[in-house]
Amino acid sequence: MPHKIIQRAAARHLPKLIAELKRKEQSPFMRTMQSETGASVMLEDQRVLMFGSNNYLGLAADSRVLHAANRGIHEFGSATTGSRLLNGSVRLHVDIEERIAQWYGAPAALAFTSGYTANVGTISALMSRRDTVVVDAYAHASIIDGVRLSGARLLWFDHNSVDSLRTVLAEAKEGSGDVLVIVDGLYSMEGSLSPLADIVDLCKQNGAAIMVDEAHSLGIYGENRRGWAEECGVLDDVDVLMGSLSKGLGSTGGFIVGPEELMVALRGSARSFIFSTSATPSSVAAANEAIRITMSDEGKVLAANVQESSRTLAALLGERGVKVESNTNGQWSPILPVLIGSEARTIATWNEILRGGAYVGVAMHPAVPRDRALLRVCVSAAHSPDDLAKVADVIRNALDATADL
Ligand code: PMP
Repeated sequence: MPHKIIQRAAARHLPKLIAELKRKEQSPFMRTMQSETGASVMLEDQRVLMFGSNNYLGLAADSRVLHAANRGIHEFGSATTGSRLLNGSVRLHVDIEERIAQWYGAPAALAFTSGYTANVGTISALMSRRDTVVVDAYAHASIIDGVRLSGARLLWFDHNSVDSLRTVLAEAKEGSGDVLVIVDGLYSMEGSLSPLADIVDLCKQNGAAIMVDEAHSLGIYGENRRGWAEECGVLDDVDVLMGSLSKGLGSTGGFIVGPEELMVALRGSARSFIFSTSATPSSVAAANEAIRITMSDEGKVLAANVQESSRTLAALLGERGVKVESNTNGQWSPILPVLIGSEARTIATWNEILRGGAYVGVAMHPAVPRDRALLRVCVSAAHSPDDLAKVADVIRNALDATADL
C-alpha cells in the first residue's frame, strides 16, 4: 500500500476525477497527441481540428522554427546540463535576451525555462514578508505560487474591477512594506482583457509597482506584437513585464524584460533561475526564430489573421445561438470561452465535440471558479475559414446532444 500521504493526495477531487474519467475512457485530460500541432492534430488514431491549443500564430509547426531548433541542437547539444548562473548559459540564451530587449526597446531581458518559472522566480525574488502583492482574482497559478513563495501578504481584487482594486490598494497601503499589483494582459481561461490603462493609473496614484503577465497576449496585440501593455499604450509604465515563449511563439520558455537593475536582482536571487537547468538549445533557438518572424511584417499578417478568424468564429457561434462569455469590451480575443457551469455537462459536451472531429480545451476548478466550468475554444492563424465553420457546427451539435444534463 502506498503511504497515507500518497493515498490522501490521490483522493482529492481533481486527481480522483481525472483517474475516474480515464477509466471510463471519457477523459479530456492528458490525451495523447500523435503529431505536431497545427490547424489539426492526430489525437490517438483520429485526426481532429485543433481548437484547444495556444498556438495562436501557428508557429509551432513552422518549418523555419523547426530548422532553427535543429540547428540549435546540432550546435549546442540536447541539453546545457547546468543552470544559467554556472555552465548553462550558451550563446543562444544571450542571443534571445538581446533580441527580446531590442524588441521592447528595453535595456535588458532574462530568459527562463518556462513562463511558470519566470513568474515564480521573479515575484519571489522581488517581494518579501513585509510586502503586499495585490492580484486579480483570475490571475494565473504561477503568479499565486510566486507570491506564496515570497511570503508576502496576498490580497485579491475582483476580476478586472478597477473599483475593487482601488479598495484593496487602500488596505494594502496600510501594511509596512511595498505594494506590487500583478495582472494578466489576456486571461488564459476566460479570454478577458485587463483594463490596463486604468490599473496603471491607479498603481501610480498609490505608489504601487505594476507587473504584467503577457503570456497569452504576446505576439498578437500591439503595433509591434509586444502584448497587451503595448496595445493599451502603457508599456513604458509597466515596472515588470513577463512573457511566455510557450504559446504564440511556438516554443517553450519565459522571459522578463525591463531595466538592467531588474536583471541584476533576478540573476542573483530568482531561485528558479539559479537552481534549475537552463532552457534547452532547441527550444531557445526555436523561440528566437519565432520572435524574428513575429517582429517582422509577416508577424503583423499572422496577428491580423488570428484576429479576423477569432471575430469570424465568434460570429459563427453567435449565429448558431452559442454564447461566448469573454469580457473584452468590444476588443477581440483568440480565446472564446463557452461557459457551461457544471463539470459533468462540460465533460460530456467535450466528448461530443471530440466525436464530431474537433478538440477544444476544458477549464475546471482550480483553473476557473467552481461553478464556471467551461470549454475554451482557441483560434490560430493556421485555421482556414472551413475549419471555423466546421467547429462552430460541431460545438452547436454537441451542446444540443447534452442539453438534458
Ligand atoms: N502565465 C499565464 C497567464 C499562463 O496562462 C501560463 C501558462 N498556462 C503561464 C504564465 C506559464 O507559462 P509557461 O506555459 O510558459 O510555463
